[in-house]
Amino acid sequence: MAYLHLFWPEGGALPRMQALDIFHMDTGGCTGCGLELRAVSRALDAGNAAIRFVSTPRQAGLLLLTGSLSVEMAPVVELAWQAMPGSRLLAVVGDCAVDGGVFTPSYAVLGGVGGRAQASLSLPGCPPAPAMILEALIRWRTGQDKQPPAA
Ligand code: SF4
Repeated sequence: MAYLHLFWPEGGALPRMQALDIFHMDTGGCTGCGLELRAVSRALDAGNAAIRFVSTPRQAGLLLLTGSLSVEMAPVVELAWQAMPGSRLLAVVGDCAVDGGVFTPSYAVLGGVGGRAQASLSLPGCPPAPAMILEALIRWRTGQDKQPPAA
């Protein structure tokens, strides 16, 4: 594909604006963050094709976790991560996912995934409002697309 290089002064190919396919899992919080994400999902369905929620990790490029990580959900998260194709990214949304939040580690709770794995996007809040989540996703996504293409 030929480019005019109108927006990329270094002369490289324009970065491809791929859709960001998000698979969401609630790993054991109070579901408050999950409800806010549902509102985000509805808003995206109404008009932003660049970011969308998918129903299986096999179609996802971003695994978005909410809630503190329960022992029971840890292997499920690992399976979802392994099922994602190609390069994959992790996002943690809400205090519980970032650092465990109100759920302290116990025999049933491991804590926040943000303290165990490197997340590309980390958004605290209890819960963060849908507008904050959407803004963070768009800002983060826009920043990604401005990265120079890999040599
Ligand atoms: S961060 Fe707050 S709203 Fe979100 S799952 Fe934890 S307790 Fe619930």
